[in-house]
Amino acid sequence: MSLQRVAAVIGSPVSHSLSPVIHRAAFEAAGVDWCYAAFEVAPGDGAAAVGAMRTLGIGGLSVTMPHKADVAAAVDLLDPAAQALESVNTVSWSDDRLVGSSTDGAGFIASLIEVGVDVDGAAVAVLGAGGAARSVVDALGRSGASAIAVVNRTPGRAHFAAGLAAVAYVGGHDDVATADIVVNATSVGMGVAPGVVGADALPCDVGLLNPAQIVADLVYHPVDTAWLVGARALGARTVDGLGMLVHQAALQQLAWLGATPDTAAMRAAAEAELARPS
Ligand code: NAP
Repeated sequence: MSLQRVAAVIGSPVSHSLSPVIHRAAFEAAGVDWCYAAFEVAPGDGAAAVGAMRTLGIGGLSVTMPHKADVAAAVDLLDPAAQALESVNTVSWSDDRLVGSSTDGAGFIASLIEVGVDVDGAAVAVLGAGGAARSVVDALGRSGASAIAVVNRTPGRAHFAAGLAAVAYVGGHDDVATADIVVNATSVGMGVAPGVVGADALPCDVGLLNPAQIVADLVYHPVDTAWLVGARALGARTVDGLGMLVHQAALQQLAWLGATPDTAAMRAAAEAELARPS
């Protein structure tokens, strides 16, 4: 009898995570005998969870808040993005060593490529400077963006994020108006159902946008945010945050199983879960 392999997400809180449905859909589509669990791990216990992964022989970990930095310090090796960000969202095995990776930024780039958008040579404005924005700035820099303006409410955080790519700088609203690609990497709009108070909150004035731009949102709940609706009304092309969520998970699957999963099945599972009444 072969032993079933186990992968899991650790976080706190973890109950709202879409990772279980997305990864289980990938395992099912691939026909592999893996299962996926969600572990609530208390703040400060991220390194202990990595120790448990070694002890129990867990095949792969997804890492979410607040453990990303602790796990980066607890694994044996880091990929270049994880090293730059000092943050890990994926742990995989390489022989008997644990490798920490950061797949969020590469997942964002993959979500653009999927819809035919090439960032090579593009001027990009990134709204926000938190963990997700930093992943995106790092990945845009690695993917050949010609300029990256980081526009954030808190200037100190913008300076830190802009330090992650040679072509990045602290920008302002002028950069939003002139960019080829504008990305909402703030949490504005997250978790606010359409039609309720606050659902029309915007990360910046949509009137700054124009029809020639690609406008992306990292927020995936709701999938169609007020920001994307407003950009589309102006004639801009839009890219939702569910693409990034699926592709960062697809890169995790690649790290664990060595094969690219069925991203359409993963997205369908995420959409079904988001559509379920809570
Ligand atoms: P975070 O570290 O808490 O950063 C939040 C960012 O949003 C900061 O830049 C913050 O600005 C800004 N912000 C919050 N409220 C604001 C407001 N009212 N006006 C202007 N700016 C505001 O969060 P994060 O981890 O970077 O996540 C950001 C968003 O990305 C979340 O919605 C998250 O769910 C989403 N996300 C999506 C994916 C995906 O796969 N699609 C992956 C990761 C994250 P200050 O610095 O001024 O506070």
